[in-house]
Amino acid sequence: MAGMERILIAGGGIGGLTAAATLLLAGFEVAVFEQASVLAEVGAGIQVSANAGRVYRALGLMEAIEAAGVLPDAYHFRVFDSGDVLQTIPLGEGYRERHGVPYVTIHRADLHRLLVEKVRSLDPAAVRTGCAVTSFAEDAHGVIVTLADGSTERGAALIGADGIKSVVRLGVAGPTAASYTGDAAWRVTVPSERLLPAYRSRTTDVWAGPGRHAVTYPLRGGALMNLVGCVEYAAWEDESWTTPRPWAEMRADFEGWHPMITAIIDAADRDQCFRWALRDREPIGGWSTGRVTLLGDAAHPTLPYMAQGAAMAVEDAAVLARTLSLEPDVPAALALYQRNRIDRTARIVNESRANRALFHLPDVPSLRAAFDRRDMNAERSAWLFSYDPTTVELLDA
Ligand SMILES: Cc1cc2nc3c(=O)[nH]c(=O)nc-3n(C[C@H](O)[C@H](O)[C@H](O)COP(=O)(O)OP(=O)(O)OC[C@H]3O[C@@H](n4cnc5c(N)ncnc54)[C@H](O)[C@@H]3O)c2cc1C
Repeated sequence: MAGMERILIAGGGIGGLTAAATLLLAGFEVAVFEQASVLAEVGAGIQVSANAGRVYRALGLMEAIEAAGVLPDAYHFRVFDSGDVLQTIPLGEGYRERHGVPYVTIHRADLHRLLVEKVRSLDPAAVRTGCAVTSFAEDAHGVIVTLADGSTERGAALIGADGIKSVVRLGVAGPTAASYTGDAAWRVTVPSERLLPAYRSRTTDVWAGPGRHAVTYPLRGGALMNLVGCVEYAAWEDESWTTPRPWAEMRADFEGWHPMITAIIDAADRDQCFRWALRDREPIGGWSTGRVTLLGDAAHPTLPYMAQGAAMAVEDAAVLARTLSLEPDVPAALALYQRNRIDRTARIVNESRANRALFHLPDVPSLRAAFDRRDMNAERSAWLFSYDPTTVELLDA
């Protein structure tokens, strides 16, 4: 594709902004349309593994991400009440040596801000807020996007990076219902100074228990502790990341758990406990038309049980920028992108679902037996963390 063609992106989340930055660096003109009036992310943490970190490094952001976050020493899988370690993935400097980039936990708002700054440093006018994409139409020469105010924009291609409720996906793939996975996720972030020193942990911990699990890790150099608690609920409402729920409900959900978990919940501001029903979609065989494609949660929403949803969006963005740079014909470039992303992202969706069963086993002997049969470090290093979206050979199968 000639370098100066205009690419339209619906959505200014982590995926859309990473796509914008990689495309701008590759020489494209980019227009990002974000429905929110202010560019922002919620007050929660996110884990950045090496497969995503390599893209951030290529954007020149890895040092800033590292400085804003924490390099946890290890990733522990633990028993929910005793805290006994079932298995460990070493992180810290050893992980950096092995993978070339560190494993970082970072506040979402900090990561999002760094991406916004990067995009604006490349093109101050690239991101437009308060611009919801409502529909699109394409012809042999380009795509026309209609915004909520009725205005239209034209480009050579449209990337739907508009999340799990994607309007662009509806146009590309038709109605494909997102199904409730049976779990809802609590999230709280508390100042570490409210916790006993013993609970100001420098590790990422998955606490596995009957019918639920919790994930804890530090943020902002250790100043904050992040807790996500995923609980099986038969009934669900269409909650969002920003829907507060009664603190007492969260406390009751983790009654009898390890004192570190209950201490974090006890330290939370009572009106700052949020819960979100988790939904995913069956992987699909295609998410592109001629000049329109999807990335991130719009393409392959997943349970967060491998901490890989945003990482897949970032990988998608890097591979898409490469195929658009390599292939002058837009439909061929989008098809090449899709061929190179479908299997890997479907694997994440399916393995994340499998982790739900693993993390929620009904008793401790079953948990121990299941973890004894697996080596999470070897498995994840072999195919997940070692993938480099910036250089991986593009298969044209
Ligand atoms: C509890 C939990 C923990 C997680 N932890 C991790 C983790 O540790 N590591 C990890 O990699 N992933 C994690 N994830 C997954 C990750 O949060 C998502 O996969 C990621 O945010 C998806 O990014 P995205 O850019 O595709 O979509 P989104 O972040 O949903 O962004 C979509 C953007 O599009 C905008 N938008 C929507 N509709 C329109 C429209 N019509 N027009 C214009 N703009 C629109 C939205 O306002 C939003 O800004 C976690 C998820 C959950 C729920």
